[in-house]
Amino acid sequence: LYGAKAGEIVKKYGQNINDDIINKNGLIPAARDVSFDVRKGEIFVIMGLSGSGKSTILRCMTGLIEPTMGQLTVSGKDLGTASRQDLIGMRRKVMGMVFQDFALLPHLTVLDNVAFPLKVQGKSRAERHAKAREMVELVGLEGREAYLPHELSGGQQQRVGIARSLTTEPEIWFLDEPFSALDPLIRAEMQDEFLRLQNLLQKSIVFVTHDFDEAIGLADRIAIMAGGRVVQIGTPEELITNP
Ligand code: ADP
Ligand code: ADP
Repeated sequence: LYGAKAGEIVKKYGQNINDDIINKNGLIPAARDVSFDVRKGEIFVIMGLSGSGKSTILRCMTGLIEPTMGQLTVSGKDLGTASRQDLIGMRRKVMGMVFQDFALLPHLTVLDNVAFPLKVQGKSRAERHAKAREMVELVGLEGREAYLPHELSGGQQQRVGIARSLTTEPEIWFLDEPFSALDPLIRAEMQDEFLRLQNLLQKSIVFVTHDFDEAIGLADRIAIMAGGRVVQIGTPEELITNP
């Protein structure tokens, strides 16, 4: 059973020569022949240096850009045959997303930020708030429902981001460098918090990071990207013993 599947994904950005990586072999795509599967309930980490193609793959998987070639299935749905409207619907209902910069709405309270995806879905105020309160509690922010984002520490702001990404009970959870903006101690605390939540929720997860230690610490399996390709794929144990 798969949470997601990528088959020989190639992505070339535009026709502009500056859009793609140029190396001694000439012009190469931002992503090329990228294949992997994300199993149901696993933490699948995409790891690689800056420019290796991680965001390109993530943007393809979340339907923000279209691959030049290849197949993508996310939560049983073939993205290649999905309409624009289908993709918007999937982003609202099936996918949960957490961003490096938290991407909170600065003038909304913690509770309203967390409730926001349900507002977009047209849920009643009572239903939104009940669910949002539950999520705020889940991430340990009870008592801070009425705070504004700037009144919270970075770690707390990302707890709000995490709570918001889970209010719609997504089938697949995408986290894009979620802890990279945080201080090392807070980062470690948030990694523990993330594992605690996953233990509870058992989501299918795509987690993007450039941090090898973070990948090793969190992943069930890791895909290492370099130059737009997946150069290695395996469990942390496999990657440590067979580097
Ligand atoms: P990563 O997320 O690992 O840092 P990216 O997927 O952002 O890597 O980038 C892979 C390659 O694609 C890089 O060479 C980058 O410059 C290029 N690239 C990324 N986004 C765009 C874009 N919107 N237009 C053109 N080139 C892009
Ligand atoms: P950190 O040291 O983790 O960055 P802060 O020093 O920013 O945390 O905040 C410590 C505590 O004070 C947090 O619980 C936060 O919610 C609260 N806090 C921070 N700024 C404000 C503020 N402007 N108004 C009310 N509470 C605040």
